[in-house]
Amino acid sequence: MTTLADFPKIASGKVRDLYAAGDKHLLLVTSDRISAYDFVLDTPIPDKGRVLTAMSVFWFTQLADVIPNHLEAWDDPRIPSEVLGRALLVRRLDMLPVEAVARGYLTGSGFSDYQSTGSVCGVELPSGLVEASKLASPIFTPATKADLGDHDENVSFETVAAQIGVERATEVRDATLAIYERGADFAAERGILLADTKFEFGLDTQGRLVLADEVLTPDSSRYWPADGYTPGQTQPSFDKQFVRNWLTGPDSGWDRASNTQPPPLPADVVAATRARYVEAYERISGLSLADWPGA
Ligand code: ATP
Ligand code: MG
Repeated sequence: MTTLADFPKIASGKVRDLYAAGDKHLLLVTSDRISAYDFVLDTPIPDKGRVLTAMSVFWFTQLADVIPNHLEAWDDPRIPSEVLGRALLVRRLDMLPVEAVARGYLTGSGFSDYQSTGSVCGVELPSGLVEASKLASPIFTPATKADLGDHDENVSFETVAAQIGVERATEVRDATLAIYERGADFAAERGILLADTKFEFGLDTQGRLVLADEVLTPDSSRYWPADGYTPGQTQPSFDKQFVRNWLTGPDSGWDRASNTQPPPLPADVVAATRARYVEAYERISGLSLADWPGA
């Protein structure tokens, strides 16, 4: 039996902790922490770590015919029991320094860039698009990985090509769009729009491109309910909308402009948000979270 204390910690992100598992593997542990408006909230969402982990495994498996992935194990004795269900044992890769973003809809930094320049990451878009417009076809809008606390910076395809070579950049772009399209089609059949998403890729010892990190989770993607989709306004978030509504509503006493830590979430907001995460997993995968390890 292993315990988490056997694994040296390498790093902690906003939501996940990264541990070494020998030289060749990593243990990626997803917590129940949730972020909103760039703050990690004081209140965890129970089972969020399990949902995100289960979703990643579901998608890695779904996508296995499109691209190899870094999964080694998620349900075997090499996973410490205290994190079973929310930890992935993965192959350690040589990560590419690019956040591989695909967008099928225009929102967030993509919409901001479009408003000021008419293009996103060097991709020219037609005029007249509005917040949440569906794009004629999905676009690759890479970003550079920022240091903790900083925002990623959108860059052009040429910038990525200068960093990793035009062939590898082309491979990353093609893989990103192929995975996005597969994910978006799959989600759409289940009443959920995949507005945009971010992938991370690494190279294995043979120099092959491998899909890494988390994939098509609510933390790496914008999922919108297809029901009520209305371009021209901010769409509700499938998973975080209760949190956002409460934080920016009158009951929280929090002022977004104050740039201070938001207050703890009330129990009903936590319960509704947990239910949304579980629903996202179960609707997309057709599986039950109760059957996932770590309950
Ligand atoms: P945040 O997501 O909070 O902005 P972050 O991206 O730095 O911060 P995490 O997402 O918590 O932190 O950490 C995951 C880290 O592990 C990332 O740096 C990611 O690139 C890296 N990673 C993921 N999969 C692999 C892998 N197979 N091999 C090597 N590194 C990996
Ligand atoms: Mg990350």
